[in-house]
Parts: sequence; structure tokens; C-alpha cells
Amino acid sequence: MDSAKRVADKKDWIKGATGDWEIIIGLEVHAQVLSKAKLFSGASAEFGGEPNDHVSTVDAAMPGMLPVINRYCVEQAVRTGLGLKATINNYSVFDRKNYFYPDLPQGYQISQYKQPVVGEGKVTIDLDDGKSTEIGIERLHLEQDAGKSLHDQHPSMSFVDLNRSGCALMEIVSRPDMRSADEAKAYVTKLRQIMRYLGTCDGNMEQGSMRADVNVSVRRPGGEFGTRCEIKNVNSIRFMGQAIEYEARRQIGILEDGGKIDQETRLFDARKGETRSMRSKEEAHDYRYFPDPDLLPLELEQAWVDGIAKSLPELPDEKRNRFMSSFGLTAYDSSVLVAEQASAAFYEDVAKGRDGKLAANWVINELFGRLNKEGKTVENSPVTAAQIGGIVDLIGSGVISGKIAKDVFEIMWTEGGDPAAIVESRGLKQVTDMSAIEKAVDEIVAANPDKAEAAKAKPNLLGWFVGQVMKSTGGKANPQAVNELLRKKLEITMQ
Ligand code: ADP
Ligand code: MG
Repeated sequence: MDSAKRVADKKDWIKGATGDWEIIIGLEVHAQVLSKAKLFSGASAEFGGEPNDHVSTVDAAMPGMLPVINRYCVEQAVRTGLGLKATINNYSVFDRKNYFYPDLPQGYQISQYKQPVVGEGKVTIDLDDGKSTEIGIERLHLEQDAGKSLHDQHPSMSFVDLNRSGCALMEIVSRPDMRSADEAKAYVTKLRQIMRYLGTCDGNMEQGSMRADVNVSVRRPGGEFGTRCEIKNVNSIRFMGQAIEYEARRQIGILEDGGKIDQETRLFDARKGETRSMRSKEEAHDYRYFPDPDLLPLELEQAWVDGIAKSLPELPDEKRNRFMSSFGLTAYDSSVLVAEQASAAFYEDVAKGRDGKLAANWVINELFGRLNKEGKTVENSPVTAAQIGGIVDLIGSGVISGKIAKDVFEIMWTEGGDPAAIVESRGLKQVTDMSAIEKAVDEIVAANPDKAEAAKAKPNLLGWFVGQVMKSTGGKANPQAVNELLRKKLEITMQ
């Protein structure tokens, strides 16, 4: 679709002094390829380490050193492209992008320019109102990361750490298809999810494995695109949202004052919550791109690409749809469950052969709630899927009530153990013996004659009686049976 055509939802328009405005956003996401070695050298691509521990003579650009392409990094880029439903280009070229920086010892970055390894694709994003929309991908290319200048180690000197130098990055360029900060956040979230499913990027934004250059412009709703500004290297989803909101209002302010937007590169200052100018935008010709003479064009065999395509896992959207259709879950619950592969797998283990909705309820509300609170994930959960499954079974067959189930969960969480055995040994079984329940009901009714009389006129007092009976039976009475008996005794007929 023509990117300019999509007009934002009215709720996302920004009211200016002279009328409404629409935000236009396009993102260039840099994702570090998950691989052992760098893109053109055998040095480790691992995060951390002592400064300059992971540096080969290629990464340090020693004279005469030659780059050798890492086949696995190419495979990872192709896998990502397939996950983005994109065209894979069987012929692509590595170019030199020339610029000087102390942390770029080659004096150029090896990147791909006119012929990237992956072409057009798309990502479906899920919006808050339950709707979804497609964001176009323009391209994905492979390139080298730069090193890092350290200015805070010495009062009068700067140091350079080349550990990142030469690590493989995928630059994923979107079309200018996003229309609000929330859409941009949903896009990065989905992209991250897809790459984590594929195992091509760990998506760790704190460690810089994923960062975005955020292009923002504004226009009158449905009008011509305006001039964009590019906010460099935003490394958290929350900051990205703040940067977009700030930048859009800044541009609207200028335009409404009769000014014009200079195309420039800006930085987001997270402390002040504002963007500020870094430099005027460089043009492609400033970089003097040309094909790297040290590297042959990259030619991929179709059979190799097909092999990768066959090995792709089920992706988040497909998994969510399957959860909705085969377990009868809502879109929202399914999205929560498929956010991470491990949590989806955990849920499936619980839900297999059981009531899918009850299982989802337990996994999302009880388990995830508790894990979040204690800063844990399903990978290091003290409670297993089999244990949660056991609880769901006990509730399903009426052996315990939902309330007792929470106590059992608590015991499992702190002491471990099989839920059925816990119920047995602690005598937590639900009382379904009607005569026992009836006895408890009669006692409560007899002890509270005034309330019993009042309940005949005010049936919502029933809840109080149910509570009292549950209390006197230690929560073990079957709540439905208690309800029915109380209605009969108190002569409440209405539902
Ligand atoms: P450059 O490297 O010069 O920034 P790219 O082609 O790599 O150029 O990226 C351009 C990015 O800017 C894309 O993500 C694109 O969607 C986005 N973009 C283009 N035009 C606009 C616009 N008018 N408003 C917002 N974003 C835009
Ligand atoms: Mg750019």
C-alpha cells in the first residue's frame, strides 16, 4: 500500500492552534545478530568482557587484513527476512560507507546500500482497541557495528573499546507507516518478539542489542508528507514513545509559527524528555558508497533459502490465532501467552487435554502475576506446568474450590509438592456432602434471625450468608451448593 494513504485514527490526531495534525513515523531498527562470531571476523560477538578482549586484527583494521563473511550471520538475516514475510534477494552486495570516527578504525563501515540481502516485507501490529494493522518493511540489510569511545575513564584522555567493532547488525527499515507513538511502540515490540522467536536477536535493549533511529514528521490529516527529523539511537521502547510525542509537538510549534522544518539528525535526552539537534542530515552521497573490493557479491542458492524457510518456528501471530481457535481464548489472553515462546509452551503444557480458559486464567493471573511480583520468569518458576495442570484438574472435577486452589498454589510455590497429595494430606477437599453443608447453613441462619428475615426482602444479603458458611467450613464447602441451600432456606427465589 502507498504509505502516504493511511490516515491516522482521529484519536491520534494532535490538536494544534491552527487545526489538527497527524504524526508520521518510520523506524530504522538496528538489531544485533545472535551469533558466536562477528560478521567478517572470528572474534567473539559476546556482550561484555574486558575492553578490547574480543578484537581480531580485522576488527582493529590492521593494514592488509581481509574480511571473510560469516555464513551463519547471513543465515540469521535470511531467517529474519522470512519471519518478516519479506523477499529474499539471492544476489546482494556489500558496500563501504565512508566516514570517520575514532571508534571506526577502518574509516568506513561495511554495509549494504542499493542491493540489500532482504527486500520488502511486513509486520502486523496489534493495537489497544483490539484492531491490528500492517506496517511495511522496506528492506533489511547486514552491516558492521562500530566500537565505543569511552570519555569517562580519564580526566584528559578518551579511550576506545573495539569489542563491538565488527559485530553483525541487521538494519530493518520500515515504511513511514506508523501514525502514533503507541503504534511505533507496538511495532518495535512485535519486531523484537519475532526475532526472539526466530533466535536471530536476543532483543536485549538495555545491552544495546536493539536500538532504533526514529524518523518523525507531521502533516495535516491525509495531506502531503512533511520534512522528517531523525532521532538517533533510541534504546528503550518507553523513551521512543516520549521522543516521538515531544518531537511531533516541537515540529507543530514551528510550523504553526510560520517556520519550516530543517531535515536534521537529533538526539533524545531522556533526563529532560526532549530532543535536540545533533547535526544537519547527511545525504547518501556524503558517504561515498562503493562496493567493497575485498568482498564478492553475496549469492544465495534458492535451495539453501528454502531449507531455512522450512526450519522456521511457529511465529507469534500464528500461535496467537491457534490459541484463540483451539483453546477458545480471547485475543488479549492469547497475546499475553504468546509474548514469549517459553510462556506459550508452558501454557500449552497446562492446557493440553484440559479446559483451555481455566488453564489460561491460572497461568496468566495466578502464575504470571506471582512470577512478576517476584521478578521471576517461567524459565525459573518454582511451580511446574504439571503442578498447575494438577490444580486445574482438581478444580475441574470439583474436588477443590477456586479459593482453596489458591491456597494449594501458595503451598506449592513455597514448599513444592503434588497438588492432589497436598489436598489429601491437609484435608482440603471440598465438602460436597449435602448434609454437612446443610448443618452449617442451618447454624448460621439460626444464629442470625434478623438478617435471615431481612434477606427475604433484600436478596443481596445472601452474599453475606454465603461468606459466613464458607468461613465456618474453612472455605471447603462447595459454593454452588451453599448458594442453593441458602436460597431454599431463606425463601429467596429470584436469581
Ligand atoms: P536514511 O538512512 O537517510 O535515514 P533510510 O532510507 O535508511 O534513510 O530511512 C528512512 C526512514 O525514514 C525510513 O524508515 C522511512 O520510513 C522514514 N521516513 C521517510 N519519510 C518520512 C517522513 N516523511 N516522515 C517520517 N518518516 C519518514
Ligand atoms: Mg537513517
